[in-house]
Amino acid sequence: MEKLFTSLDGIYDEIVEIRRHLHKHPELSFEEVNTANYIAAYHEKLGHEIRTNVGGNGVVAYLKGDKPGPTVALRADFDALPIHEETDVPFKSVNDGVMHACGHDGHTATLLGLAKVLNGMKTDIEGTVVFIHQHAEELPPGGAKAMIEDGCLDGVDVIFGTHLQAQKPLYEIGYRSGPLQAAPDVFDIKIQGKGGHGAMPHNTKDSIVIAGQLINNLQQIVSRGVDPLDSAVVSVCSFEAKGPYNVIQDTASLSGTVRTFKEETRSFVEKEIERIVKGTCLVSNAGYEYKYTRGYPTTVNHKEETEFVAELAKSVPGVETVKETEPIMGGEDFSYYLQNVKGCFFFTGAQNPDWEEAYPHHHPKFDIDERALLIAAKVLGKATLEYMKVNAKTLA
Ligand code: MN
Repeated sequence: MEKLFTSLDGIYDEIVEIRRHLHKHPELSFEEVNTANYIAAYHEKLGHEIRTNVGGNGVVAYLKGDKPGPTVALRADFDALPIHEETDVPFKSVNDGVMHACGHDGHTATLLGLAKVLNGMKTDIEGTVVFIHQHAEELPPGGAKAMIEDGCLDGVDVIFGTHLQAQKPLYEIGYRSGPLQAAPDVFDIKIQGKGGHGAMPHNTKDSIVIAGQLINNLQQIVSRGVDPLDSAVVSVCSFEAKGPYNVIQDTASLSGTVRTFKEETRSFVEKEIERIVKGTCLVSNAGYEYKYTRGYPTTVNHKEETEFVAELAKSVPGVETVKETEPIMGGEDFSYYLQNVKGCFFFTGAQNPDWEEAYPHHHPKFDIDERALLIAAKVLGKATLEYMKVNAKTLA
């Protein structure tokens, strides 16, 4: 394992350079053509067998070790967000309105650096490493599902992946067995009232008043309908109904997001929103349209593989803390891989200890401490080699 760590230390500058290049040239979900080409070219130079356009812009590369053994997949996503960057870094985005504000540039640099180092260790590799470079994590339906349907997990025994966390301290690895990230769904509601003169409300059905009541009524789903020991979020994030001073609006539209961990809670919330929309509109004699769109499933880690990662991370140089993390309400399409094969998705702390303020993910001033990339690469690399060692005999 020493060789893995020293080799990664040796190419740290290159990993940082890759991350900065990607950061400077971000591309939106489903439009990541140049990023995909860059990734494919890197693996090509290493002599890896490559598949491009996997399920869209996805890239999959294969490294066969000199000895037989299990197949370990490692995944990094590479899309950026529709956010205009406001940092002062010298490698700031040159694409107006597009920014790597979630650390996916760092994930990709980590995986490419690790690919280079593992390529130089073929004699130590007992099995095959599959590098899954996934497009479009940020925008449902996402890239993972399509890549799986296109065969990226074929022959894979186990999968590992990490997400950098700008709000968790550098040198910390966070793990959790079972549900780690919520299922992120969205809803759209349109209230059909009856517009008219602002001075003669008795001749109208005021869609804005109805929508206002509805927003309040929706608050009861979580507070009165969901077991306090379970978790759910219902957030109305948009309210549209605009007109001049003297016109009561015909229609009002609400949209928002729902986050849940359990399938039964998810279905309950989905039905409950409609029941409340229906009831509120019935009271006011108004009509409605309701659409509920399911996003990614809950990200559920496998117990054995999670304990395996948590244990091995303790002795990775640079890791000071390995701790069980709380689940988060943000969604992640790594969930699909974990529905198909065993594996673990963990968090790598990336908050610079000297920063006065760490901006959250998806913020225009978001940044990561690049030393986290080296830590992530070491944990993923060690997980790969150790998994192969432990399972070589049983699967060969
Ligand atoms: Mn992300």
